[in-house]
Amino acid sequence: MKTNHLSPLTLDEIVSLLEYDRTRAEHELFPLARKVKEESVGNTVYFRGLIEFSNYCHKNCLYCGLRRENRRVARYDIPDEEILAMARFAREHNYASIVMQSGERSDAHFVERVEKLLAAIIKESAGELRITLSCGEQSAEVYERWYAAGATRYLLRIESSKRELYHQIHPQDENHSFEKRVECLKLLKRLGYQTGTGVMIGLPGQNTLDLASDLCFFRDLDIHMVGMGPFIEHQETPLAGSHPQMLPLQERLFLALKMVAVLRIMMKDINIAAATALQAIDPTGREQALAVGANVIMPNITPKKYREDYKLYENKPCTDEDPWQCQGCLERRIASVGNTIGYGEFGDSKHYKEQISKKNDKKQKI
Ligand code: SAM
Ligand code: SF4
Repeated sequence: MKTNHLSPLTLDEIVSLLEYDRTRAEHELFPLARKVKEESVGNTVYFRGLIEFSNYCHKNCLYCGLRRENRRVARYDIPDEEILAMARFAREHNYASIVMQSGERSDAHFVERVEKLLAAIIKESAGELRITLSCGEQSAEVYERWYAAGATRYLLRIESSKRELYHQIHPQDENHSFEKRVECLKLLKRLGYQTGTGVMIGLPGQNTLDLASDLCFFRDLDIHMVGMGPFIEHQETPLAGSHPQMLPLQERLFLALKMVAVLRIMMKDINIAAATALQAIDPTGREQALAVGANVIMPNITPKKYREDYKLYENKPCTDEDPWQCQGCLERRIASVGNTIGYGEFGDSKHYKEQISKKNDKKQKI
């Protein structure tokens, strides 16, 4: 690999890395990414207990099983008490962080409910849990309220940083605006959130130049965390069906691993999640991502009875398991790639912490 990883990779270099065949990837790209990971963030994997607390959604993204027009999904809102019990489960199992994820809603009732839940979890956990939200696009006021109530991290995937592709996978209306999504990401950063984004890999019509541009988008935005994974069809969505130009699933997985590896080389100290969708293609998909640069895993701690109704895509793994069943299985899988679990550690993004300390230094000098 000719790339001098000390200087920023150019767009052309990134495209060329993403086009490596298996032999070159396995002998050149992946070992370098592994080394960069070891040297910059180490081999500790941080857990974020994932709570899929509601599947109501007012959006209609063309790829997602939770889209408003999918009438075949039973909608649920997990009662507050059960959500608090899941947060307790995370703390008792030393996860130190949870992610509260839902479909997108912006009605006053939803906003207030999330705010109250955040406050209740913070109170009960006495500051021992970091909370990430993943509840879509909201106004500045809502993001501020949720931050004040205790959420410190936010995940909002850009899905694709190429405007035309974004429009191809979303309805053409003001409820699905590319510009608004970018604005929300900038806003989240400005408000002080540890901010994460990501894309789907293997979308119809997407090429390696698009994906390389996605990686540059993360770098230009100076993002703190990334979670990206393969696109997987869901039968009850408009993007399902035969798209002649679609990559086979195994190729999407391989491309996703190369995306993780190149991103680790480009942004050494950010947090990169091993996406659950990797596991939908290969049972060891997430461990493969850990071995080439990822350092975060989101074990699903949603009770089994709700999981069947949070199917974003086909073949979503572990929908027939309860939270405690995930734990032992994950420990073995993570050890198999020489990584250890950072039980009890918040695992904040190093990149975020660096940014904050630089800002504070600057303030002191003024
Ligand atoms: N509603 C919020 C949002 O869209 O930001 C958060 C929940 S949404 C279900 C979380 C992520 O699921 C999306 O950002 C999207 O990338 C992913 N997703 C949805 N459908 C998918 C599919 N068919 N294949 C892979 N990932 C998918
Ligand atoms: Fe709703 Fe998020 Fe699915 Fe879009 S990706 S339909 S916003 S849950």
